[in-house]
Amino acid sequence: MNLPDKQSSEPVVLQGQIIVPASRLSAVQELLEAHIELTRKEAGCLVFEVNPGEADACVFDVYEEFTDKAAFDTHQKRVQHSEWGRGTGDVVRNYQLSDSYYMYRALELAAEAEALGEVPVGALIVRAGEIIGEGYNQPISQADPSAHAEINAMRHAASKMQNYRLPGTTLYCTIEPCAMCAGAMVHARIERLVYGAPEPRAGAVESAMALLNAPHLNHRVQVGQSVLQAQCAQLISQFFRHKRSQGTLEDRVPD
Ligand SMILES: [Zn+2]
Repeated sequence: MNLPDKQSSEPVVLQGQIIVPASRLSAVQELLEAHIELTRKEAGCLVFEVNPGEADACVFDVYEEFTDKAAFDTHQKRVQHSEWGRGTGDVVRNYQLSDSYYMYRALELAAEAEALGEVPVGALIVRAGEIIGEGYNQPISQADPSAHAEINAMRHAASKMQNYRLPGTTLYCTIEPCAMCAGAMVHARIERLVYGAPEPRAGAVESAMALLNAPHLNHRVQVGQSVLQAQCAQLISQFFRHKRSQGTLEDRVPD
């Protein structure tokens, strides 16, 4: 796997609330102190705050920052088997993760495409904090010109939801979508798009075209701020540099 260096990493942020039943408040508070101490000692932990809410002592405000998804995932795994995890596993959590978390996942999917010799692009779809579809670029291996990462993620999500419309979702992809994928996002009624790096030659959101702003469209896809741009761009440029050095680069634009 051709992962870029860590200099261009962005933190993963989790924020939200834990809602503890009043009957268990003192037991949870007892576990909390050790939980905070252990977590703050983790190598990838940048910020870890769990504080009782001002209005309701049973509602704890949570704010966490980890260096990247790998550090966040390591923390999650540790917590699952910790006293805190066992003691609060059934407590209601209302958390939101930053766009960077999902873009790190899209980068992992892009690496899957690369392993197949495909141009490394990854995409996923999130609804209410849950990943409902994932895909990576596979036109060559699937012998399918439409098998771009975004289309594959939309197919997966639509199949899972049993609905060809995907309202209330965010689509994350590592590279600016092409005209075909931008068009399919409008058909699917994707609510929001976040992509990593622009694609100067074929990008249909802001680079070569601005399809999502076409005045005749009856659905608007919001475009969020780019995250992990350097990592997403680097994955692609490394891929093409490698292909060029092998003399196997086909004369075509990246998908
Ligand atoms: Zn595409």
